Amino acid sequence: MKAAPMKAALIEVPFLDARAINARYAGELTAAAARVIDSGSYVLGEELAAFEREFAAYCGVRHAVGVGSGLDALALILRGYRELGAIDEGDEIIVPGNTFIATFLAITANRLVPVPVEPDPASFNIDPVCVEAAIGPRTRAIMAVHLYGQLADMPALAALARRHRLLLIEDAAQAHGAMRDGRKAGAFGDAAAFSFFPAKNLGALGDGGAVATDDAVLARRVAALRNYGSEEKYRHLFQGFNSRLDEMQAAMLRVKLPYLDADIAWRRRLALRYRKRIRHPHIQLPAVAAEERHAWHLFVVRCPCRDALQRHLLARGIHSQVHYPVPPHRQPAYASLRNAKLPLTERLHDEVLSLPIGPTLRDEDADRVIEACQTFAGAA
Ligand SMILES: *Cc1c(COP(=O)(O)O)cnc(C)c1O
Repeated sequence: MKAAPMKAALIEVPFLDARAINARYAGELTAAAARVIDSGSYVLGEELAAFEREFAAYCGVRHAVGVGSGLDALALILRGYRELGAIDEGDEIIVPGNTFIATFLAITANRLVPVPVEPDPASFNIDPVCVEAAIGPRTRAIMAVHLYGQLADMPALAALARRHRLLLIEDAAQAHGAMRDGRKAGAFGDAAAFSFFPAKNLGALGDGGAVATDDAVLARRVAALRNYGSEEKYRHLFQGFNSRLDEMQAAMLRVKLPYLDADIAWRRRLALRYRKRIRHPHIQLPAVAAEERHAWHLFVVRCPCRDALQRHLLARGIHSQVHYPVPPHRQPAYASLRNAKLPLTERLHDEVLSLPIGPTLRDEDADRVIEACQTFAGAA
């Protein structure tokens, strides 16, 4: 067989290099893994208890409860409030229409009704004006998503929640470490959900999540619900789940948490480089109200000829992604929401493109991305 013709060597710019991210701490991770193996305790042990204390302190809240994933964290918050009588089956939860499917799944898994609303056109985060218009007699909570790592307008949402006696829940899966007025993501609402999926800003080496809250009663409910609804072995107060952050993942996260702020600082630096140097009539850069409010989980531009831009970048070895190509209300799983009128949400899903960003992306890589964007001619 003849060898394929040689192509000019193209150095790839990965979208996110999870291997390189963890390789930075290979020694510490390996030592922590050995510690867990040696301990003989693999579920609900000391690593989890220590991580819960450390993560709560990081977020500036009283309690963190480690669970199996970000989706479980969201679902367990709602289930906890159901067990506390604050939310009933069939009640409505207001959510941004443009979010990852998990935000919706957590709501419908609890037999609650998601009421999707439009985002603010500048920040892509839930628009408080649209939230207010959507509040009805069965509304019980606002589920804010800090999309792409940027805090939603929490002061405005908190004021609405107070005025209408609603719960305010944060989907902070993308926003560990984002700050406003000295407070971190997770410390603004009644409760917050975090994800430690490997690609998130604080990623485990597998699935993981946490609920953060100042509410001791809710924290205790969630802790019971993640463990078969039990606070005491073989006594089951609730029809719970098995959704625990295991000792191995807790140990990995304890290694990585102390480096999170440095990683975010690096992401901010790259984002600033992109924002200063990408100047293109068809590429709209993300709007940022204040640097510290954005943890830059994703750097998302908007382009009317998005698919052409993505192809143009790929031809230059640059890997980009779309977050997200189809909004939840247009998914087959949510046929019941198909008639929701969310024109801006739908347009965004056709136009957004996430450029590479991450703690191991080098300046040279970012410069290649910038150069490639600058040479984009528009739709082919
Ligand atoms: C990742 C993510 C989730 C779900 O977290 P998992 O750990 O993957 O279950 C929820 N909401 C948002 C906005 C996310 O980005």
